Amino acid sequence: MFLVSAVFVALAALLFTLLIRTKDVPEPEPISPVAHLEQRKAQIYENLRDLQFEFRVGKLSDEDYQKTKLGLQNELARVLAEIDGIQPPAASSAASVPEPALPSQPAPETAKVCPHCGAKFARPMKFCGECGKAMVP
Ligand SMILES: [Zn+2]
Repeated sequence: MFLVSAVFVALAALLFTLLIRTKDVPEPEPISPVAHLEQRKAQIYENLRDLQFEFRVGKLSDEDYQKTKLGLQNELARVLAEIDGIQPPAASSAASVPEPALPSQPAPETAKVCPHCGAKFARPMKFCGECGKAMVP
């Protein structure tokens, strides 16, 4: 009787371990072509926040702050454009056709002004370069 229960316990333990093992194995992450860009984007937002903080505590001059901020925002715009280029919107087939950029047709003003913090940008942005929130037109 003892032997039977010992074998049973051993089997149960083995089964348990196997179940845990398969559960613990992380699913292979889908290799996204925009993964590194998303990472870069997050990094830029972090840099912008750091920059803002340093400016507020007086570590940066206004000139340095504006210069660095502009550089970061330009880089952010490039990264966002690249993400958009790689990852076409899946909403509809019509939306996936890239619209030609027409300088004579300016984007709605709302897309250039952050509804959350009121920051203004030279061109429409999907995400605010100041506060990082989505800029819904
Ligand atoms: Zn904002």
